[in-house]
Amino acid sequence: MKRIICFILLCLCYIFVSSVEVNADVNEYELRLEYYHKYAALTGIDWYYIAAIDQYERNTKNYRHYCPKQNEIISICFDERLWSGINNPVYDDKNTDRINIFGGIGFDGDEDGYADRLNPDDRLYTMVKIITAYGITEDSIEQALLEYYRTEKGVQIIKQIALLFKHFNRIDLDKRVHPIPKGYNASVVNNYGDKRSFGGPRLHEGVDIFAPTGTPVVATAYGYVEVKGWNRLGGYRLGIRDIYNTYEFYAHLNSYAKGIEEGSIVRPGQVIGYVGSTGYGNEGTRGKFPPHLHFGLYKFDGKKEWSFDPYPYLKKWEKVRI
Ligand SMILES: [Zn+2]
Repeated sequence: MKRIICFILLCLCYIFVSSVEVNADVNEYELRLEYYHKYAALTGIDWYYIAAIDQYERNTKNYRHYCPKQNEIISICFDERLWSGINNPVYDDKNTDRINIFGGIGFDGDEDGYADRLNPDDRLYTMVKIITAYGITEDSIEQALLEYYRTEKGVQIIKQIALLFKHFNRIDLDKRVHPIPKGYNASVVNNYGDKRSFGGPRLHEGVDIFAPTGTPVVATAYGYVEVKGWNRLGGYRLGIRDIYNTYEFYAHLNSYAKGIEEGSIVRPGQVIGYVGSTGYGNEGTRGKFPPHLHFGLYKFDGKKEWSFDPYPYLKKWEKVRI
């Protein structure tokens, strides 16, 4: 009897802790939205642009030495020298006059008298100052972003994230599903990094999911269709970018789902194409290998894009086939 009561108590504890965690997440998203709307109202920039910049910075902060690594409400972060001014003798200065004299970019957003590099308001205010340097039209924001980040790909990704936030009118777009829906046979082979020879020696940047021709393929995440079309190695393929700077690559498709074009916005579980055996030749080449979906994952870290192993994720998503 004691054991049963203990078990029930443990279960209740678990349920309580999980619900607290869920609430914490919800509150975090709400808090972020409040910040975005506040600075949108203040500057006239659409909220989803500010949200997309913050998301992009969150996605790349681990690759910048000056960014705190812990979870923060606002992840926009600045190099301390840029913030305070290159020749400012005070490290991580908060004094607005001195920052100004030394040509630093830090501003005091919450009007507490300090330009604090770690304060969410001061960060956001400084960022909106940077991106409104030329005005608040889409073109002028893009020009300012290019000048600040110095990466066309990065700016393109910020625009895509902004479109996703705008389209769904939400920022919690983290749902993931398996690329082959429930009820269809699919066998995932753990072959990331295997040697390949077609088109020259190379490593296999993805995993193969064997399934009969015509099996539907669904988007694994909320995303923006960045690439559609034929490629000698991949055949008919799709490249979809999610809000985490991750590029999901679907190759060897037999055909595309109706309405899927470059620039389309997709949701997890939406059919985007059908399994096939296209590739390894000129456009339309089929049957050089058994039908399968080649699924790859790539990450843009702010400077470069690299491939990583999708196998552990696919194993996890086995439980979320829809
Ligand atoms: Zn493959």
